[in-house]
Amino acid sequence: MRKIINQIEGIKTSDGAGVSLTRIIGSPELNMLDPFLLLDEFGSDNPDDYIAGFPPHPHRGFETITYMLNGKFHHKDNAGNEGFLEDGSVQWMTAGKGVVHSEMPKQTDGLVRGFQLWLNLPKEKKMIEPAYHDISADQIPCIKTKISTVKIISGEYQNTKGPGKPHTGFLYFDVNIDPGKSFSCDIPEDWNAFIYVYEGSLSVNSDLSKGFLGVLSASGKLEVNSLDRGASFILVAGEPLNEPVARGGPFVMNTRSEILQAFEDYQSGKFGS
Ligand code: MN
Repeated sequence: MRKIINQIEGIKTSDGAGVSLTRIIGSPELNMLDPFLLLDEFGSDNPDDYIAGFPPHPHRGFETITYMLNGKFHHKDNAGNEGFLEDGSVQWMTAGKGVVHSEMPKQTDGLVRGFQLWLNLPKEKKMIEPAYHDISADQIPCIKTKISTVKIISGEYQNTKGPGKPHTGFLYFDVNIDPGKSFSCDIPEDWNAFIYVYEGSLSVNSDLSKGFLGVLSASGKLEVNSLDRGASFILVAGEPLNEPVARGGPFVMNTRSEILQAFEDYQSGKFGS
């Protein structure tokens, strides 16, 4: 059975033009969990926390997967692509060789809540053409039973496949369990995996509360039991790349010189357009 081997609490910070968020992966405590480079949770009903959004900024070398639990965002890049994210939808962006984009809230009040995950690309795919895959809420399969709801963004659960099209092995589920009930699933052997609790609390081999990420051991089946108030969590797992990682802000490559090249290409206007 998979166990929780490490618990991490996110760090409150801000990014973009002053968006308040909680950084869970990509912090000093958990720099990365191969192939995951970053996980942010944003969640507020105060527009001051999100209204400034993320004005134009570049990315190269990985994918960003944004899952909106609530709220609306507008996405636009310098090559003329645009898209809208609504409640329950996902935007899957493959930055590849480079994009310059903005991510701005499409609402001026009410609750905005969701996650952005950075999924690394393998060495041979870091410089592929940028791509976008907008997944609306009704395209995400939802397996409902009397005691749980499982939304499949990527990967397979009970013979149902999610719409995600990753470049390497990857699963992403949003799971809700009623109080005192359980959920179990298979995760491919040796994939790195974590759960992040966004409501309630749960127990695997140890208890995990709201706002905590539990890193799971690398082999076996997962069984999760919710505690008194039920639990909502994301379960994310991926095939480790086991390749060198060089990070430079919004660029993630394999070597330091590739990072310097990315800054040079960005500054000389070679991204996107
Ligand atoms: Mn971005």
